[in-house]
Amino acid sequence: MTTARVRIAPSPTGPLHIGTARTALFNYLYARHVGGTFILRLEDTDVARSTPEFEEDILEHLHWLGLEWDEGPAAGGLPERGAFGPYRQMARRELYRAAAERLLAADQAYPCYCTADELDAERHRLEAAKLPPRYSGRCATLTPAERARFEAQGRRPAIRFRIQPGVVVFDDLVRGRVEIDAAALGGDLVIVRADGTPLYHFGVVVDDAAMGITHVIRGEDHLSNTPKHILLFRALGYPVPVFAHLPLILNLDRTKMSKRRSQTAMKDYIAEGFVREALVNYLALLGWSTGTEEEILSLDDLVGRFDTGAIQKGGAIFDRQRLEWLNGQWIRRLADDDLAARLAPFLEAETAARRTDRTPSRAEIVALLPMIRERLPVLAAIGDLVGFLYVEDLVTDAALLVPKRWDAATARAGLLAARAVIEDAGEADFTVPALEPALRGLADARGWKAGDLFMAIRVAISGRTATPPLFESMVALGRERTSARLARAADALAA
Ligand code: GLU
Repeated sequence: MTTARVRIAPSPTGPLHIGTARTALFNYLYARHVGGTFILRLEDTDVARSTPEFEEDILEHLHWLGLEWDEGPAAGGLPERGAFGPYRQMARRELYRAAAERLLAADQAYPCYCTADELDAERHRLEAAKLPPRYSGRCATLTPAERARFEAQGRRPAIRFRIQPGVVVFDDLVRGRVEIDAAALGGDLVIVRADGTPLYHFGVVVDDAAMGITHVIRGEDHLSNTPKHILLFRALGYPVPVFAHLPLILNLDRTKMSKRRSQTAMKDYIAEGFVREALVNYLALLGWSTGTEEEILSLDDLVGRFDTGAIQKGGAIFDRQRLEWLNGQWIRRLADDDLAARLAPFLEAETAARRTDRTPSRAEIVALLPMIRERLPVLAAIGDLVGFLYVEDLVTDAALLVPKRWDAATARAGLLAARAVIEDAGEADFTVPALEPALRGLADARGWKAGDLFMAIRVAISGRTATPPLFESMVALGRERTSARLARAADALAA
């Protein structure tokens, strides 16, 4: 055990973002690797955008990924865990108020009476002059009489923290020495709004200190916030935690992944049938690697190998194809029963969409696995692969029934001849090892290319030109239904 304490601090203003999941994972891995504590804190002070639904989505999916937190808020019927609660910022407002009072008393902060309109006008003036946005400091030196006058006008002040000049220096675990001039921080910083709610920068510092956070591991998008936080930690007399900024997650074209242009919600990946093992494995590789060729790593493997020293600085490219490949690898590794249980809802969705009332049993799904397991980049692909098994009235496009080198009459003859082979052979020979030579023999005898005959049969039984292996598909469909579909397709071709 060490005393390391790390946290994930999501704002419930959207569903769990893959970037947040990656940050949560790295914090989790660090905590588990060193025997520290992993904390979940909800930063819900953006009241207008935070919702209970987003909160639930975030907690549910972190839990689904297996990133169990040691301390965190009451959720999903479970009580709050940990001695540093409450773990929701809106329930901690008293702490922020007390901390703000301390800063005011020490003149490290001051009341700011500027209205939103005044600040907007100030910003526009700077923009027009092509200058970076920066608070003018108008309220920094108000006399008590001036403050009283604003109060008398009914203005309610925000609280601003005085940003002292100087260079803020820190040693980032990923980026090494970082130096940022306080002059670049935009001037004195609002820490509490006029309505009393804390701003992110303030809440995060007060809570990280109060919760004893030793390492702040978060996305590089926060790098420019860190000097503000360090100045606040110091002003409040708190120890400054160690920082580690994780590389940005980028699209293939190296643009920043944004929720508008990229698929970023964890729930959308889950809905497609990415399995948790693959998502965890993939997220871990977004900015970190073992330094070896090893790619398939379980959560436990990752805990064992994790090392902040191996986190990369450069942007981490999100490559969906690689994620799909990893997903396929993990799907191959799952035990039959486990995989069947995970596939069942996807297959049920497919059968419901096709309006059949045949819900496949777990045993039926297990029986299908040998022919589909290697063909599933995502679990949802099962619908396309085997949906045809569960339709009573297969609707087939007659044009597809005629392979390129054939005409309709040949296709019809081929389908009827194949049906005759099946009928003659009987139930006992309706097996993969028996069907294949029988149908190849038929093609040879008639001078057809086996591929053409097989294509016509494939379309007749499935309605599609691509299926799992043909003979396995026929066996899965059953002799009677196969025979009936061949007959029906032949009818469809009768001129
Ligand atoms: N609530 C912040 C966010 O979601 C937390 C950032 C941090 O880890 O400090 O981005």
